[in-house]
Amino acid sequence: MIRYALRCAKGHAFESWFPNSAAYDKQVKRALVTCPACGDTKVEKAIMAPKLSRTRKRGAAPAVAASPEAAAPEAPAPVAADTQVAMMSPQENELRQKLKELREHLTKNSDYVGKKFPEEARKMHYGEIDHRSIYGEASLKDAKELHDEGIEFHPLPVLPDERN
Ligand SMILES: [Zn+2]
Repeated sequence: MIRYALRCAKGHAFESWFPNSAAYDKQVKRALVTCPACGDTKVEKAIMAPKLSRTRKRGAAPAVAASPEAAAPEAPAPVAADTQVAMMSPQENELRQKLKELREHLTKNSDYVGKKFPEEARKMHYGEIDHRSIYGEASLKDAKELHDEGIEFHPLPVLPDERN
């Protein structure tokens, strides 16, 4: 007998015993495994994310270092110091692929304005130039100022394992 940690499509977690993994596959395919909370038959093995240690290895620098000023309470750094990792289910892999496509779509259909992003975004906001899609870089300070001025912008989705 094997015990599996399972999860229904609505996210209820439960456990169930099976004679073996083949029996599990067969029972799920035939919709014989139901969620005890909602009766859903779309169940899958729950992916257990490994518990993350808060302590960093000695000498290993964080990917993004927040300066003491940036870490001040009024301007919290948007990036967590610890790298977050997770095991991904097929659905999450799909989501990740969608993010990648979104990012490619955004970058392909916008003008890259680099460090002039805050300037260009402002000009558009105040009607000095026509609206168009742009992307570029903004410092934490710039981003905060743009936000305070009511200028809408979004961080580009970044995938952790991209190395270009
Ligand atoms: Zn359920």
